[in-house]
Amino acid sequence: MRRIAIIGGGVAGITAAYELARLTQNDRNSIAVTLYEASSRLGGIVETVREGGFVIEGGPDGWVSEKPWARELAVELGMAGELIHSNDEGRKTYVLVDGSLKAMPDGMRMMVPADLAALDSSELFSAEAKQAYRDEVARAEELKAAAPTRDESVAEFVKRHFGDEVLTKIGAPLLSGVFGGDVNRLSVRAVMAPFVAMEREHGSLVAALQAKESSQKRTPIFTTLHNGLGSLVDNIVAAVPRAWVQFGTRVTRMERDRDGWWVSASSGHGPEERERFDAVLLATPVHIAAQLLAPVDARAAELMQMEASSAVIAAFGFDHAAHVALPPGFGFLVPPDSNASSLLMACTFMDQKFPGRVPAGGRLLRAFFGGRAAERMMRCGNDEVAAVARMELAHILGPLPEPRVTVVRRLPLSLPQYGVGHLERMAELDARVGALGDLWLLGNGYRGVGLPDLIRDARAAAQQQTAHTIQ
Ligand SMILES: Cc1cc2nc3c(=O)[nH]c(=O)nc-3n(C[C@H](O)[C@H](O)[C@H](O)COP(=O)(O)OP(=O)(O)OC[C@H]3O[C@@H](n4cnc5c(N)ncnc54)[C@H](O)[C@@H]3O)c2cc1C
Repeated sequence: MRRIAIIGGGVAGITAAYELARLTQNDRNSIAVTLYEASSRLGGIVETVREGGFVIEGGPDGWVSEKPWARELAVELGMAGELIHSNDEGRKTYVLVDGSLKAMPDGMRMMVPADLAALDSSELFSAEAKQAYRDEVARAEELKAAAPTRDESVAEFVKRHFGDEVLTKIGAPLLSGVFGGDVNRLSVRAVMAPFVAMEREHGSLVAALQAKESSQKRTPIFTTLHNGLGSLVDNIVAAVPRAWVQFGTRVTRMERDRDGWWVSASSGHGPEERERFDAVLLATPVHIAAQLLAPVDARAAELMQMEASSAVIAAFGFDHAAHVALPPGFGFLVPPDSNASSLLMACTFMDQKFPGRVPAGGRLLRAFFGGRAAERMMRCGNDEVAAVARMELAHILGPLPEPRVTVVRRLPLSLPQYGVGHLERMAELDARVGALGDLWLLGNGYRGVGLPDLIRDARAAAQQQTAHTIQ
């Protein structure tokens, strides 16, 4: 019998457990699994609060539809009828510039426009930035020749193509919300790989995107679930044997010897328990995984050191949409260097982004703080966070009525930053982890931060466990 430890019960850890349960359902005695979860619930930062007809996400609110792995899992769990898509016909994203919201032109893929004509009516960009976009197509050969052979920062990449204004107004806010990062340090190869490939092939990103969009059928940009992403967690967990899960049990130490892995864990009462396993699937946030691995392989732990940003979410459900006037669209972003005109990093107009998030006639806003503002707000009480968020939102959107529902969540160090050289560091890390043997690193610090990436990797790691036992 192969003994397997899964450390951390976020989406990565529970998906690995689910896959092990699925693969061994006819042969449960071939493996013994312990899933250690420090808190009293599973799902990690994925959590849905349902109150008064509002469906409020405390962490992620959906996934990028282009990546199939989360959808495949939901379908497998019998949730096909619950998949819903973003309201793309009303898709617009705004950027806060000089205190007011300016719409990004239609048809943008991150900071690249597929439709140059849509730039004409944009109030967001100056004439110089619009010209830089047009010139980029003409500079295709020059850009192709200049494509570096080494990794570089997102800032260098975006500036080479479109200049400073595009970087500051949309490049920085788009990326800092997802990767918690500073564009001057984020690795373009790790976080914008498709665009790097486009540069290599076409030189011009605008020309590459135009060629791609004309040959592709349009899929909805985001997918989520009717009852929120928490229902995905509930269904995954329902398929995991209850006896596998140790709630409220924090892993404190890992050791490796000829007999396998030794995992020490504490439930806060009684002495620490130390157990032997044949394999470990380490699915805690990366900074905790690095602490656990440091005594075993200091270099591996060093490769896992990365800056991470915290996030604070404040969501407000209002009874009457009419009393909270919004422009059409999914929400707005605040450029990180906008001279602190707002502490917010972004706000999502949830009831306009997805169907079914509010009771009839309701409105749901979700404010997001990241970076330094989040670090400060982590220390504030819920009332204080909500008060700051409402004040900031009112400043931008106009006076807000009293919300019916308020949800505040703090997600410490939840957005790891993939710095320049990330892929090379991960290749070295993979080699070290491979040499240690019977260890898999799962979660958002390595090969992608989105839920589909995590689900893909967790299932693949679980499949490798059963390859040992089921012939
Ligand atoms: C604000 C925000 C919005 C996001 N939005 C989206 C989105 O819309 N779409 C998308 O695809 N992705 C989104 N992401 C990314 C995605 O949500 C995360 O990458 C993902 O949920 C992380 O899952 P995880 O299992 O790796 O880690 P976590 O959810 O952090 O889970 C780790 C678990 O390990 C446990 N743990 C920690 N230490 C120990 C220990 N020593 N012993 C035992 N257990 C331990 C923790 O209690 C926790 O349950 C977002 C992220 C953030 C922060």
